[in-house]
Amino acid sequence: MRSTSLTPIISVAVTIAALLTLFAVGFSHPKSDVVAATPAAHTSDNAPRLDTPAPDPDVIVGSAQDGPGRRVALTFDDGPDPIWTPKVLDFLGEHHVKATFCLVGTNARRYPDLVRRIVAEGHQLCDHTMTHDQNLRYKSAAAMRAEIVGAKQAILDAVPNAQVRYYRAPEGAFSPKGAHPSMQQIAADNGMQPLAWKADPEDWTKPGVRVIVERVQQQVGEDGVVLMHDAGGDRSQTLAALDQLMPWFNDLGYRFVFPA
Ligand SMILES: [Zn+2]
Repeated sequence: MRSTSLTPIISVAVTIAALLTLFAVGFSHPKSDVVAATPAAHTSDNAPRLDTPAPDPDVIVGSAQDGPGRRVALTFDDGPDPIWTPKVLDFLGEHHVKATFCLVGTNARRYPDLVRRIVAEGHQLCDHTMTHDQNLRYKSAAAMRAEIVGAKQAILDAVPNAQVRYYRAPEGAFSPKGAHPSMQQIAADNGMQPLAWKADPEDWTKPGVRVIVERVQQQVGEDGVVLMHDAGGDRSQTLAALDQLMPWFNDLGYRFVFPA
């Protein structure tokens, strides 16, 4: 019968529609635990501007600052590093791009001149804990506070009055929603907005320049925060990938801004 022969076609169509819906939802939203912050005020000039609303501990920012058109916020983790941070800063300077550096406190203590250079060249700072303990979310409130406040203090000892606008947990492993104590709450209490990302090319695993480039292109969306590293080993692949990404970003009209 005709109606019977149509059944498989209909079920295939329904399956395709469901898959398309899933794809659209997955593509247009950040990772489930990454929620865009309240948009900042619009800015008319091209230079990234930083609005400073009170940090919201219930939001882990994955999006770039609000504004017209495509925007991207580059972030570099785990430095400062005496070899690679200067190379990344040189590259950003040549391309007139501002980024955000998530600093490990012990490194900030060892290389205060690099912290000063990051700030002097107009980049933003992010607290990435004192020792990069990836199990910090399971530790006591006192341990969390020591790691988070300690790193902020290490940065401030290098650059008094520096604004440390963001906090990023080691490996992005924030406290579970509703946890007490919570890293996010401690960060917000200390004036820092929890920060995650949309694009993670896993550059630290050295997957090859082309893979890093493709992952960023696939994941950044219209307004993503990009996670990269300026420390923790040889970062030549990261730099080479950035070199290839710059014309791509420019061709697509991306503006380089800070995280929301
Ligand atoms: Zn890290």
